[in-house]
Amino acid sequence: MNELDSEAMAGAMSELGYDTAASEEDADVIILNTCTVRDLAEKKALGKIGALKKLKDANRKLVIGVAGCLAQQRGEQLLKRFRHLDFVVGTREIDKIPELVAEAMTRRRQMASLCPRRKIVEPTAYKRLHDVKAFVYVMRGCENFCSYCIVPYVRGPETSRPSSEITDEIKKLADGGYREVCLLGQNVNSYGKGLREKIDFAGLLDKINKINGIERIRFMTSHPKDISDRLIKAVASLDKVCESIHFPLQSGSDKILKLMNRGYTYSDYMEIVGKLKKAVKDIAVSTDIIVGFPGESEEDFRKTAKAFNEIEFSNSFIFKYSPRGGTKAAGLDDDVPLKTKLERNRELLTLQEEISLRKNKEFVGKKLEVLIESPGKKDKNLFTGRTRQNIIALFKPGDFKKGDVAGFIPSSATPAVLSGKLADK
Ligand code: SF4
Repeated sequence: MNELDSEAMAGAMSELGYDTAASEEDADVIILNTCTVRDLAEKKALGKIGALKKLKDANRKLVIGVAGCLAQQRGEQLLKRFRHLDFVVGTREIDKIPELVAEAMTRRRQMASLCPRRKIVEPTAYKRLHDVKAFVYVMRGCENFCSYCIVPYVRGPETSRPSSEITDEIKKLADGGYREVCLLGQNVNSYGKGLREKIDFAGLLDKINKINGIERIRFMTSHPKDISDRLIKAVASLDKVCESIHFPLQSGSDKILKLMNRGYTYSDYMEIVGKLKKAVKDIAVSTDIIVGFPGESEEDFRKTAKAFNEIEFSNSFIFKYSPRGGTKAAGLDDDVPLKTKLERNRELLTLQEEISLRKNKEFVGKKLEVLIESPGKKDKNLFTGRTRQNIIALFKPGDFKKGDVAGFIPSSATPAVLSGKLADK
């Protein structure tokens, strides 16, 4: 989501006539898009803001702004602490950036634009990082208030975009050569709430599936409590919806899930996984996990490790718990020692590597489908793409080109990459 927001910020600036600078030293304007979901991300952002003072001292005309969740949460404090900042801008006010920059150029005073409940004005331009696949917002905000999470406070309430606005944007992307869209929202499954039209996320997928030129549809993130049978049916029946779904488990222990205010039990989660695996052949399930949540005993952690073996996630994002000020969990005793958090993190990472390798090896010799994306980073003769299960594929392009969808037969596998050759679809 931050990547898409950055694309919107760059798009807004390009409409003002700005281009991307080769380096920070060359820039007339620097906008930091920040994250505050974890303590480490916040520390990195604060360190970076501090380091920019050197550039401001060398060039008083340089405009520096801070956007994103850290700005939303601590904007005024940031302005006081870092006098070299020109402005802070909230998560719902990206469209205001050109105005703030223009103002900062003429009037040297610090500015804050931080309304957390403002109606979002959709960006009129994006400066996209990719040219084959694109992110598209379908909803923003969250009202789930998981006890550890800062998002509902910094991203505001759930707001869905009308479906016609989304399909119009995707049609334009298809006309521009994009072949894959990834629909984004803090909780895409609650799409449609509050809209005048009667539509849910499955209905939206059905509409997007009909758009010519788009070959693949992905989406994230899904909250387990909102994955409906209708959605599972849509994933199973709509040909462009990829066989891959990301939905965070967070913990395998019901005690911890309750403390997290997640609204489901491990067996609820397993029931959805069972339905998905039954309905969709070769579906890849990926997840997020927090280790070391307050009160997580060895027994609780073992339940999470057991879940890895039972579900066999294709991929997982494992985080060490860190309290976020203002959340309910911040009031709990952060009682799991850092050493234990690190050990648990490491154990799950190793487990995930073993599972990913085992699962990827099962694809060797089978015909899959890839969307060809770009030349590889290390070897320009090799191209990369993604399978429908979202696994990175590496191959020689032959007569195929970027944006083509081709058959792909892997000949070897690592935990993260399949290597092989292309074939006709
Ligand atoms: S559903 Fe996701 S974004 Fe919303 S509060 Fe929970 S963790 Fe945060």
